[in-house]
Amino acid sequence: MRIVQKYGGTSLADAGRLRNAARRAVLLHAQGAEVLLVVSAQGDTTDRLVRQAAEVNPRGSLREMDALLAAGEQMSAALTAMAIGALGAPAVSLTGYQAGIHTDGVHGNAKILDLTGERIRQELEAGKIVVTAGFQGYNDAGDVTTLGRGGSDTTAVALAAFLKADVCQIFTDVDGIYDRDPRRYPEARRFGRLSYEAMLALIEGGAQVLHDRSVLLAREHGLTIEVLSAFTGAPGTLVGPSEAL
Ligand code: ADP
Ligand code: ASP
Ligand code: MG
Repeated sequence: MRIVQKYGGTSLADAGRLRNAARRAVLLHAQGAEVLLVVSAQGDTTDRLVRQAAEVNPRGSLREMDALLAAGEQMSAALTAMAIGALGAPAVSLTGYQAGIHTDGVHGNAKILDLTGERIRQELEAGKIVVTAGFQGYNDAGDVTTLGRGGSDTTAVALAAFLKADVCQIFTDVDGIYDRDPRRYPEARRFGRLSYEAMLALIEGGAQVLHDRSVLLAREHGLTIEVLSAFTGAPGTLVGPSEAL
């Protein structure tokens, strides 16, 4: 069993939440699963870095912006690997470069072209829980790129497809996909299942709960993703091919 789990920023915002994510991974690993985590920057780290950059240079280069923002995910990945280590399980953090996430050269909104290298597979085969920094890759020049805001979802789906994972779970701060933003509309209704097309329509309508490219990529590979609460772990919303739903 191969499982990819992605955690968004709010779901990793402090040490307790990091530990929760780590605990869930360690339990699965102890049951014999191969576990790959994809993590976002903690809390509002990315917004803070954007503000810091603007203070220094409102017209800073996109290349340096990517180098800066990618650091947020790298911190999360290392901290999550440490939290797993504290629970007695072997873990290794990888940057997008180390994970072989090769993108085009569009800084700030790069597209994943392919996954290169065998590092992730080697680490999984060595029995480790792999924690990959989301939202980042590298271009032909060897520079860091980022995938656009919310792009860690796309990292998770790309890796799940590459590894032919059995499960791809997107842990977030709501317990699934609703017909409208449940934080703004308390009467919003939750979906148990949703086709790719229905999900893409919601995103087009402004729902920023999943990165659009993650859904397009999942559709391309016929991969079903589950969006669920990092706080409860209760079953969430499945997004997949309409015939399988
Ligand atoms: P993460 O940091 O986990 O990636 P995001 O902030 O990207 O989380 O996405 C989760 C947020 O998406 C929720 O907090 C919610 O307010 C918002 N959201 C907007 N539209 C929807 C929707 N239709 N269903 C669920 N959540 C939605
Ligand atoms: N940290 C990035 C962002 O805030 C990527 C992500 O969270 O998916 O947009
Ligand atoms: Mg997100």
